[in-house]
This record gives sequence, C-alpha cells and structure tokens, in this order.
Amino acid sequence: MRSPTPAACNAQIHPPAPYNNPIFSLFAAEPAIDIMTDQNQILFEQASITTPGGVNSPVRAFRSVGGTPRFIKRALGAYMWDENDTQYLDFVGSWGPAILGHAHPKVVQAVQTAAADGLGFGAPTRAEVEMAQALCAMLPSLQQVRLVSSGTEATMSAIRLARGFTGRDLLVKFEGCYHGHSDSLLIKAGSGLLTQGNPSSAGVPQSVSNDTLVLPYNDVAALQQLFKEKGAQVAGVILEPIAGNMNFVRASTEFMQTLRALCTQHGALLIIDEVMTGFRVGLHCAQGLYGIDADITTLGKVIGGGMPVAAFGGRADIMAHMAPLGGVYQAGTLSGNPVAVAAGLTTLNLIRETGFFENLRSKGETLLAGFTRAAQNAGVPFSTDIEGGMFGLFFSETPPKSYAQVMASRADLFPAFFHAMLDEGIYLAPSAFEAGFISAAHTDQDIERAIAAAERAFAKVAPSV
Ligand SMILES: *Cc1c(COP(=O)(O)O)cnc(C)c1O
Repeated sequence: MRSPTPAACNAQIHPPAPYNNPIFSLFAAEPAIDIMTDQNQILFEQASITTPGGVNSPVRAFRSVGGTPRFIKRALGAYMWDENDTQYLDFVGSWGPAILGHAHPKVVQAVQTAAADGLGFGAPTRAEVEMAQALCAMLPSLQQVRLVSSGTEATMSAIRLARGFTGRDLLVKFEGCYHGHSDSLLIKAGSGLLTQGNPSSAGVPQSVSNDTLVLPYNDVAALQQLFKEKGAQVAGVILEPIAGNMNFVRASTEFMQTLRALCTQHGALLIIDEVMTGFRVGLHCAQGLYGIDADITTLGKVIGGGMPVAAFGGRADIMAHMAPLGGVYQAGTLSGNPVAVAAGLTTLNLIRETGFFENLRSKGETLLAGFTRAAQNAGVPFSTDIEGGMFGLFFSETPPKSYAQVMASRADLFPAFFHAMLDEGIYLAPSAFEAGFISAAHTDQDIERAIAAAERAFAKVAPSV
C-alpha cells in the first residue's frame, strides 16, 4: 500500500536513478563524487518531493544543461562551496547581485548591525531615506523612487504606473527581454508584427495579452511602424537596454534613441528595466552609457547587495500618481526592509569607489579574450561581449543582435561546455541564454584559472562542432 503523502517527506532516500540524460553520459565515466553519497543528488531528490522540480526558481534546476543542481552551503568572495564541499569559482554571482563578491565583510557587518536593531517595523526608517537619496544621486533620471522586494514587483508596478499616468492600456515589449513573471509581461509575440501577443505561460489570461504587443529587439523599422499606427494607444514601452535574459544582447544606439524620441513624441512612457544592468554595467547604469533618460526605471539585483531589494522610480510628476498621493495603488509589507536595505546601501557605497568599474571591466575583458583564444584554438565558433561586470558567451562567430540570432547560435554546444567547466570547478549559469557576471572579488589568478579550464573545456566540445 502506498503511504500517504506526508510520510513521503520522511521517506528513506532511494539510491539515485541512473543518470539518463545523454549529456551526463559524457562525464559519467569517472564521477568525482560517489553517486551514492553525492549530497547534491540526495538533496535534489528530497527537494523534489516537497518542492516542484526541487527548486524555488526554474533555471536553478539545470534542466537545459542536464545533471544535478549544486546545493550551495556557503560562499565567500568569488567562491562557492556545495554540500559535498566541492569548491567553485562563481560567474553567476547570485544572478547579478554579488558584484562585490559573496559575503563582503562590510555588507555582512551592516546586515548584522541592522538585524540586531529589529528585522522590520512596517514603518519608515532612516535607511530607506538614505537609499532613495543614493539611488537618485547615482541615476539622474530618478527624481523619486519607491522600494519594493523583487524585480517582478518593480516592473509590475512600473507598467501599472505607466497605464495610470497615461490613461492608456497598451504595453509594448521586445522579444527575448525578461521583466519578471507578472501576467502582463509573460507575453510572447503574436502572429503578426502589430497583432496582440499571446501568453507565454499557462495561467495568463488571453485578455491580459490583448493589451501587450511584442516587437523584435533592435528593429528600428518595426518600432516606427508601431508608433505610426498605434502611438496614441501606447501607455509605455519596456525594455532591457542590454538584454541579459537571452544571454547578452545590447540595444543599438540608434534603437535606443529612436525609442526615446518616439515615446516623447507620442506621450508614451519609456520604462527602462535596469533590474539586471543597474549599477552592474556602470555607476550610472545602462542609461548613463547610452546618454538616455527613462521616464520610469526599474532596479533590483545589485541594489539589494544579495538581499531582496528592488525599486522603481522616475520623474517626480509621474511618481506623484502613486498612492498615497495619487490613484495608482501599490504596497508591500516588507518593502524597504531595514536589514535588506542595509545590504543594498552598503553595496552602493562600495561600488562608488574610484576605479571600481574600470577594474571589473579589465578583468572581464582578460577573461573573455582568454576564452576567445581558447575557442579559436579548438576550432569552436565563439564570440563574447561585455559591459562593466556583465558579459555574454556565444557559440556563434559574432555576438547576436536579436532573439532570432540568439536562437540561431550553436547553443547545443553549451551543455557539454558547461559541464566540462563545472568539472573544473568553474560555475557558469546553467543555461546558454543567461548573462555571466564577474565580481570585484575575482583575482587575476582566478581569471587565469578559468581560462585554463576553458582551454580544456573547448577541446572537449570541439568534436561536436
Ligand atoms: C531578474 C530580472 C527581473 C526580475 O527580478 P526578480 O527579482 O527575479 O523578480 C526583471 N527584469 C530583469 C531585466 C531582470 O534581469
């Protein structure tokens, strides 16, 4: 008789199923860790009983590369250790926040100090004032800002604000950009250029997608056509200025300038989603690089320094439409949480030190030049791009400029490369469609080590080219 479900929580852990993923068979010959005692495997099986897919965010599940997710026990600087005590040089950085490296002593100290004074009050604090002042000082297009707890909340609130401010419903987004998982933003392109989008997730009502249009990224002509035909209906346009959720694809200057001009001309709001790029690609975010101001900016990741802090903000006349001043409602029990804000504020202070981004970039460029050389030597099609502490690795001869070009790359080579690197103790994002991140804690020796590993990894991949 089958035991009732709750007993499954205490069920004895069965020996792991044989690795049946074809990718894994390449590396299964001599596993470094006995599969019977592999803590990652044991924990993953336990996790899969009580958590869907064993993870609390899908890409952590290693589905696109195969194999077992690493369960991380601790991290320090550029390194992480899993539950087997295997060490990894980390190029994910918690998906962007860890720009100083993990557990920076000053950030940890600030968190401990804040925690000792109480974990949260549901009332305003001095730290929130300082945080808002720091954000507005560093990003000129921010006159006012509101703190929230995730990037998803920030973008969701930003589009509600754009709709509330303009009195229009239509939202425009771009293929390959990710803006969190709210209904209005989980929309993919419809059949025609200017036809309504379709839900990209089950559970998103078709009625919601009726108000979202999805255009190809970097396509200036499509943008002009859209505004010509529907400009008066557009509440806002949201984009990642450097798309980090389809690997790494930068908007062209022409595209950004056209977008800015068209939004202004038609009274639509430009929402620049800097949840990933904000204080990651430079001290003044992507807007500083392009010399373009958003009407509304969304922030997250780095501004929380590893804790849950995100924000949206922009022109004061727009932000005045937010409750309690205006009619656009938005709220959060944990918004501006003092412990989280302490981590974020300390991080923002540390990245303002002179030469911080130049240093990040020069280490990143060395890394990418080494990877490129290694790929060339192995005869693997490969290219790279970088801005600040964020980079892209592409299995294509030149960096892609659109979602279609990303999809046309040899992403099929990535899983083998990923696992070869992981076996070398180099932790890359477990997907060919994510950006990479470097931190201030990565040393020149770390970079050399990663390049040497890449030489062996590309050689392993080469026979499949
Ligand atoms: C990560 C990300 C989000 C979502 O942020 P969460 O904190 O994961 O909800 C939104 N937009 C961009 C550009 C992101 O990279």
